[in-house]
Amino acid sequence: MAGVSRLQYPPDIRLIRVMCSGRVDLGFILRAFYNGADGVFIIGCRIGECNYTTQGNIHALNMVSLCKRIMEFLGINPERLMIEFMSSAEGIRFARVVTDFTKKIREIGPIGEAEGIGKEELKKKFRDVIGLIPYIKSSMKEKLLKMLDNIEEYESLYTKEEIENLLTNIPSYYIDPEKCQACGTCRRRCPAKAIDGDKNKIHIIDQDKCIKCGTCYEVCPPKFRAVKKLIGEPIPPPIPEEQRIVQRRKVAG
Ligand code: SF4
Ligand code: SF4
Repeated sequence: MAGVSRLQYPPDIRLIRVMCSGRVDLGFILRAFYNGADGVFIIGCRIGECNYTTQGNIHALNMVSLCKRIMEFLGINPERLMIEFMSSAEGIRFARVVTDFTKKIREIGPIGEAEGIGKEELKKKFRDVIGLIPYIKSSMKEKLLKMLDNIEEYESLYTKEEIENLLTNIPSYYIDPEKCQACGTCRRRCPAKAIDGDKNKIHIIDQDKCIKCGTCYEVCPPKFRAVKKLIGEPIPPPIPEEQRIVQRRKVAG
């Protein structure tokens, strides 16, 4: 509407159209910052007017609240991320909020520089947290699905302490070679193809590929309990190839 009506808004904003604001994933936002965007502004349909009845705008709001906490943890000004709700008929309002947002971002300054974080360090912070998105989402899945009564409630949905705890005590998963019976369940279910193994071959996790989703920990049959969740402990090195033959053992159940 703003374009059709020839309304003016700052040229340094780049519009990316998606079919629903609910499509704007946590990864999209963090990657935009990783790639140097100074601000990200999401515009969704008005609350209660979701076109698809899936309330994608509510999911976007929820995810923005989470992302702001993550940014705080990284030392990035969370004001760089904003969400607003409006209809396509509100061209004048669109031009105004976009102009205001651009002005605010100019006042905050370039990302990293304004926060006293060097370019390389900034890239590393975002790269590391992008690699943890599946872990963050699976850890926060209940809250991410919450439907609250008003916008303000979403702002306090995630606490600083819980995000700090989440991103400080990151688990690692390790397969105990003494217990693995090579049933293959974890390998088949691993979404990152991070588990190597075969019939009769003790399975091992490639820590560089692991996205810490915890699936292997959940699916390893209780009678084996071979996958360990390690927090704050070093991960033992994988056993040598020649020692990976499974020694069948009797298991209860
Ligand atoms: S936690 Fe387990 S299932 Fe998930 S990516 Fe890592 S190895 Fe794969
Ligand atoms: S699910 Fe458990 S027993 Fe089966 S291969 Fe994986 S670690 Fe080994």
